[in-house]
Amino acid sequence: ATPTAFLVASGRGAQLGVLVRGPEALERLRRVDTVVFDKTGTLTTGRMSLADVAVAEGGPGPKEVLRLAAAVEQGSEHPIGRAVVAAARREEDGDTRLPEVTDFRAVAGEGVSGQVAGHQVRVRRPWPSEPLPDALRRARQAAEDAAHTVVIVEVDDRPTGLLAVGDTLRPTSREAVCEVRALGIEPVLVTGDGAAPAHAMAEQAGIDAVHASVAPEEKERIVTALRAEGRCVAVIGDGVNDAAALASADLGMAMGGGTDAAIGAADITLVRDDMLAVVDAIRLTRRTLGTIR
Ligand code: ADP
Ligand code: MG
Repeated sequence: ATPTAFLVASGRGAQLGVLVRGPEALERLRRVDTVVFDKTGTLTTGRMSLADVAVAEGGPGPKEVLRLAAAVEQGSEHPIGRAVVAAARREEDGDTRLPEVTDFRAVAGEGVSGQVAGHQVRVRRPWPSEPLPDALRRARQAAEDAAHTVVIVEVDDRPTGLLAVGDTLRPTSREAVCEVRALGIEPVLVTGDGAAPAHAMAEQAGIDAVHASVAPEEKERIVTALRAEGRCVAVIGDGVNDAAALASADLGMAMGGGTDAAIGAADITLVRDDMLAVVDAIRLTRRTLGTIR
């Protein structure tokens, strides 16, 4: 394609809410044959809401567990953190002061931790067959049956609470997946979340290929393996946990509402909060830069 064609394509892309970094990205977009979707905040809205708080016997009650968890989540930009903080503030009846945290640490794809009121508090992902106190084990089962995302609250290294959070598909995700397939592109879901919510969302979105409980480095490895099969792989994500996968893809696409880490690692930013922008952009490049022979 000519330089003029690239100029026209990037201008049209901008009108569609697709900001493209350079002509090479446009050219690769035209050739994409596999799209790896992140789940939370990408296929889903990322506006999560707290569905359940369960506590282990003999420990602090649900309100206290939620307060401790929210205190450490204040420093998190993950949708789970925002949901937990919002729920705790609602419980506090407008008193928005949460306990102070020191030694805050966030690990992408894992969780957050810190010191709160003299206790070491951690909010993290559960392990696949983690032994848990009875009340938490039952709550985990119920949450998984409801396709909710589960996180464990540890106080002083002991599993003390379990939080279940729910999310919903973006309104256009299913249609976008369907259109992507119609363009001859295979959709794949790769998420750090557990199998139950991953498969539930994949089914709702119409995606068959699912990788769940995937750590950020593993996301990158999956992308590299797909590329090694000779595929041209686009990754769409929003989180700090997606940055490595976005950078290692043929084409990284960040959701406009996503983290700076994701946007910085991507070749394309989708400023329109609409998954169909991806489809529009691919169609546009095929139309203006010519179809693949
Ligand atoms: P996704 O791929 O769905 O965007 P992530 O890789 O960001 O998920 O996170 C994977 C898992 O790690 C989450 O499902 C959750 O269990 C845990 N996790 C990540 N960030 C947080 C956080 N701020 N608070 C609690 N748990 C978290
Ligand atoms: Mg995400």
